[in-house]
Amino acid sequence: MGKRYQSDVTIVGGGIAGIVTALSILDSPNPSIHSKKILLLDRDGPSKLGGLAKISFAGITMFDSPVQRRSGIKDNQEQAFADWLSICLIFMQ
Ligand SMILES: Cc1cc2nc3c(=O)[nH]c(=O)nc-3n(C[C@H](O)[C@H](O)[C@H](O)COP(=O)(O)OP(=O)(O)OC[C@H]3O[C@@H](n4cnc5c(N)ncnc54)[C@H](O)[C@@H]3O)c2cc1C
Repeated sequence: MGKRYQSDVTIVGGGIAGIVTALSILDSPNPSIHSKKILLLDRDGPSKLGGLAKISFAGITMFDSPVQRRSGIKDNQEQAFADWLSICLIFMQ
């Protein structure tokens, strides 16, 4: 018979979404939330924890950042989305 586990919260998938969810629960200022027993399940072994994030390029999209503002670069959500789509179109050609 397989192992049995008990938890208050079960998260299926140890990719970045699952890990961030677990950490958010543990970081909660509310004791009734951060005291929950969490079970993080993944189909892969511990060495592969992290899912696709382990092979991602670590690119992060930001707009209207302090660095841009200091440099006088005007940017906003619509412009960032348009830039992102134009990059996708280049890759699709
Ligand atoms: C080559 C590459 C480069 C990338 N570069 C960037 C980048 O620069 N910037 C960026 O923002 N994003 C990038 N991404 C995308 C980013 O990595 C993913 O969007 C993100 O990691 C997805 O995280 P996730 O937790 O949602 O899913 P996943 O990482 O797919 O995690 C899902 C987890 O669930 C587990 N799982 C699946 N099915 C089951 C099951 N039935 N039972 C138990 N466990 C299961 C998997 O083993 C996996 O660990 C890139 C992706 C790739 C492949």
